[in-house]
Amino acid sequence: MKVFDAHADTLSATEKLDIHTAPDTELTRIYAIWGGAEATYESRYLPLLKRWREAKFNDTSAMLSVEGAHVLDCSLERLRDAAADGVCAVTLTWNNANSVSGSCADNYDCGLTRFGRTFVRECERLNVTVDAAHLSERGFYDVAEMCAKPFAVTHANSAAVCPHRRNLSDDQFRTLIQTGGAAGITFHQDFAGGAEIDRLVRHIMHWLDFDGGENAIGIGTDFDGGITPVRGLEDDSGFIWLFDELILRGVSAETANKIMYGNWARIFKT
Ligand SMILES: [Zn+2]
Repeated sequence: MKVFDAHADTLSATEKLDIHTAPDTELTRIYAIWGGAEATYESRYLPLLKRWREAKFNDTSAMLSVEGAHVLDCSLERLRDAAADGVCAVTLTWNNANSVSGSCADNYDCGLTRFGRTFVRECERLNVTVDAAHLSERGFYDVAEMCAKPFAVTHANSAAVCPHRRNLSDDQFRTLIQTGGAAGITFHQDFAGGAEIDRLVRHIMHWLDFDGGENAIGIGTDFDGGITPVRGLEDDSGFIWLFDELILRGVSAETANKIMYGNWARIFKT
């Protein structure tokens, strides 16, 4: 089975790199350079880039992202350097607001700043996918309005199923469908609204009710991001359970494969 996980904090969070593997799973994963609100290019980006380069990823197809423009000092020059280093996506904010935008948890009335618009434009020019996870709602709509290319919300669930500031409203999800983007289903119990796999599947089933919803759902586990995973999905061996759970509910194999792999592959591998 092919799986594309658009967000894991493995690179940033663990003392000793523990690369997950699972039998019969061909995994593509985006590893985020994350560092909290105080992170800078010097203190977090450079050391973790070094770690990334030294890491042994076995047969895992690994990609690199940055979580929070502040990790790049909110600098266009750093952004260009990161693109040259192979960074494929930048999450514009983490929970802290920065000079690009307000976040869902900090200065949430603020959307993209003027500089933020320049930053987003530069991401697109560099073929770095814009990631609106953690972003303020206004920032999300600003991104949707100005992006010429599909953008991602790498790790968030449905707010209609589980109201949480990190989850997406139905209108936000509809906007992702319209712009050709996708949202990554996150395995954190707090964003799922419960500890059982059934709680997580509800988010997928809700989004599949939307016209075109099957093209806008992916996986964004948030593994190693300080989360408490839903039971049965604690590591990569759980992907197969999630896939089977969808099939058991009558989701077609074609749609299940889009969710597990195809939608992110379309957005990140073009
Ligand atoms: Zn995150």
